[in-house]
Amino acid sequence: MKVMKFGGTSVADARTIATVADIIIKASRTDKVLVVLSAMRGNTDLLIQAAKFAEAGDDKYKGLVQDLYRRNETAINDLFKNAEKRSMMLDYVSTSCAELASFLHGLELIRECSTRSLDLVVSFGERMNCLLMARYLLSMDIEAEVVDTRGLILTDDTFGNARVAFSETYTALRERIVAIKGIPVITGFIGATAEGITTTLGRNGSDYSASIVGAALDCSVIEIWTDVDGVLSADPRLVPKAFVIPEISFQEAMELSYFGAKVIHPYTMIPAVDRNIPVLIKNTFKPEAPGTIIRKVIQPHDRAITGIASIGGVAIVNVVGGGMIGVPGIASKVFTAMAKSGINIIMISQASSEHSICLVLKEAEAAKARTVLRVELAQEIAGKMIQDVDVIANLEIIAVIGENMRGRRGLAGKVFSALGDGDVNVLAIAQGSSELNISFVIQANDTRKAINLIHASFIT
Ligand code: ADP
Ligand code: ASP
Ligand code: MG
Repeated sequence: MKVMKFGGTSVADARTIATVADIIIKASRTDKVLVVLSAMRGNTDLLIQAAKFAEAGDDKYKGLVQDLYRRNETAINDLFKNAEKRSMMLDYVSTSCAELASFLHGLELIRECSTRSLDLVVSFGERMNCLLMARYLLSMDIEAEVVDTRGLILTDDTFGNARVAFSETYTALRERIVAIKGIPVITGFIGATAEGITTTLGRNGSDYSASIVGAALDCSVIEIWTDVDGVLSADPRLVPKAFVIPEISFQEAMELSYFGAKVIHPYTMIPAVDRNIPVLIKNTFKPEAPGTIIRKVIQPHDRAITGIASIGGVAIVNVVGGGMIGVPGIASKVFTAMAKSGINIIMISQASSEHSICLVLKEAEAAKARTVLRVELAQEIAGKMIQDVDVIANLEIIAVIGENMRGRRGLAGKVFSALGDGDVNVLAIAQGSSELNISFVIQANDTRKAINLIHASFIT
């Protein structure tokens, strides 16, 4: 049994829906297949935008709901040759769009869209797409059934980024899916609380849904089908010479995705590692390409680094002051204050002189972090132990990743001299004790240059 997950990049219109259906049907001839599907390309963004309009009292959301209807209508008219089946599908889409519009109208009236409401709005994307795919398979006499993961993927109520209750989820998914005779077409991205309130697993979360399903059903492989040939050595939009990595460890994949390689959601590896199930990344538009296999143990290779990834839109918050030297407890105060305010720290670096503590976080949270820290450290600031809390914006974190970096001397030196030769200024550096990752912060407008310099000096 295997999971096949198709992302928005794979499902955009009638032609691509037919391509995906073809891949599913072929695979189902030799294996039991569980399909996990995202929303059609762009529809999650469209739904978020519609909710924002409604919240602002702007009736442009109505136009977006119409766009959503028309996209579905065009695909349905192309895909369903039988008039009766076509009209049933169109009825379904128009009922869903009416339901969505009336919900958005509610948001318009109250001029408010909580993360809880937003999760319900975006869930339409996955639900509508799954029904379309399942009905299309049925129209070709392939038995298929939609599985709505609300009520199966059970989560807490952290709307927009919900946490999964694994053991209940595994049981519920197993019970529901083993009972299905045909091909289950399972909604990615969405879940629900124990009370049945819709939640989502975070943007790009369908990859995570796929691995949850794979672990629950003890599948032999979790396949993630997308629009590139596999995990590449760097983001192909930034590095034209990036190439496919045939095999990569769970740990490396986790680090790459955590540091921005969008091809796979970082949490995807958690259930896969737990049950030791390999994850295979494949290209929907080039199914003959071997793809990238992500597994626990990989064949030895001699590349010094495996890949480079980056996170944009970050800022440095620097707590600076000579008076911190040798004084215990300041770092703890800083981190506690961030945790209490719900601010996520992406990277930390502290010079060994202890003269400054440097936090790297999302730029959107930097001003709040500074305000919180100024209050929290008011005594230290008044006592001149700390000079101030500075913010530097417009930055990017670059991470150089690879199992082979462990214990390899001179590697960091080589990374930074490549950057120095290219005149790229480095503002902060961190290396995890696993030595699997060196990350550093640069000005955002140096990103393309920096990644290409490192790529050229290590892996071309
Ligand atoms: P899907 O809709 O299939 O989930 P995504 O857009 O979420 O697809 O992820 C695929 C995209 O990730 C690719 O089109 C590629 O541009 C981007 N990407 C960024 N970094 C990498 C990388 N290291 N390897 C492969 N793709 C990457
Ligand atoms: N449709 C969701 C998103 O766009 C989930 C996913 O694509 O994985 O974020
Ligand atoms: Mg994705």
